Amino acid sequence: MVVVMSPDATDEDVAHVVEKVEAVGGEAFVSKGVVRTIIGLVGDIESFHHLNLRTLPGVADVHRISDPYKLVSRQHHAERSTVWVGPQGAQVPIGPDTFTFMAGPCAVETPEQTLAAAHMARSAGATILRGGAFKPRTSPYAFQGLGLAGLRILADVRAATGLPIVTEVVDARDVPVVAEHADMLQVGTRNMANFGLLQAVGDAGKPVLLKRGMTATIEEWLMAAEYIAQRGNLDVVLCERGIRTFEPSTRNTLDISAVPVVQATSHLPIIVDPSHAAGRKDLVVPLSRAAIAVGADGIIVDVHPTPETALCDGPQALLGNDLRELATAVRRLPPVVGRVDAGERIRTA
Ligand code: PEP
Ligand code: MN
Repeated sequence: MVVVMSPDATDEDVAHVVEKVEAVGGEAFVSKGVVRTIIGLVGDIESFHHLNLRTLPGVADVHRISDPYKLVSRQHHAERSTVWVGPQGAQVPIGPDTFTFMAGPCAVETPEQTLAAAHMARSAGATILRGGAFKPRTSPYAFQGLGLAGLRILADVRAATGLPIVTEVVDARDVPVVAEHADMLQVGTRNMANFGLLQAVGDAGKPVLLKRGMTATIEEWLMAAEYIAQRGNLDVVLCERGIRTFEPSTRNTLDISAVPVVQATSHLPIIVDPSHAAGRKDLVVPLSRAAIAVGADGIIVDVHPTPETALCDGPQALLGNDLRELATAVRRLPPVVGRVDAGERIRTA
C-alpha cells in the first residue's frame, strides 16, 4: 500500500502516518520527493484499512498495489491453472493449453430432450454437457426447472453418453444433492454475489463454474472466486456471459476484453458463454469465433433438439446448420491459436 502526502503536508503529518502504521505492527518507508512525500507500507493490509489513513491530516491519496484477492491472483500463483472435470479416469481439462467445448440445453425438460441435446452436443465435438435442473428465473412464473428429477435425468444421460455434467445450483441448501449428481457446479450470474452459496460450493469438493454477475466488475467477480478458493477449493473456472449495458440489440453485451484482462490478473481458467451473452442464435457462431481468437479456454453453448418448444431460452439455442457451423469453427480455430481440443487430453489415469 502507498500513501501519497499532499504537497503542503508537514513533517509532523508524515510522522503521524508512520506512527499509526507502526502502532498496528506495520513498517513505513518514507520517500521525500521534490514536491511530495510518498510512504510505502509493508504489513497486514486489513489492519491498515482500519486506520482510515485517507482521513489523516496531509494525506492526499492511498493506493493499494497488491490485488485484493490472493488465492486466485497470479501474484501468488504465476502459472495459469488447469481444472479437471469428470470422474477419475475420464477427466476433461479446462486450462491454458486446451480448448474445451461445452454444450447442452438451457434447461433439462424431459429425458428424451436431454438425451437428444447431449447427442447433438457430442456430435458437434463437445466434451462436457451443460443443462439446468434448478433454473434461476427472473420471473417467479417462469419454468423453474425439474429440480431433483432433472438431476436424475442428467445422471442417466451422463451414463448413456459418457459426458461429464455441469449444472447450476441456486440455493446453498441444494449444494450436497447437486454435488452428488454433477461433475461441476455452476453458480449463475444472479448468484455471483451470494456469498453463502459461494462458500457452500467451496466446501463441496467439486469444480465450480462461476459466471460473471451481469453488473459485476472484474474485480468483484474475482473476489467472488476468492470466496470459493478460501474454502480450499481452487478448482474454479470463470465464465464471461455478458454484462448489462445501454445496448438493447443483444440480451447482454459480451465483454470480450474480460478474457485477457482476467488472464493477466488471475491464474484461473476462463470460458465464454456466447448464448447467454447474445440471447440470439445468429450471434452465437461469430461470438464463439471471437472467444477462441481472444484466447478463451473454452465456450459453453445452448443447444436444443426443438428450440421452438424449449421451456427456457429457445431463441438462443442452436441446432442443424448453425450447430454444424459452430462445430467447424471449434475444430479449426483453436489450433490456429495454439490450443488442442480438450477431448484429446482427457486424463485417463
Ligand atoms: C444458464 O447458463 O443457464 C444461465 C442461467 O446463465 P446466466 O446465469 O449466465 O444467466
Ligand atoms: Mn438459459
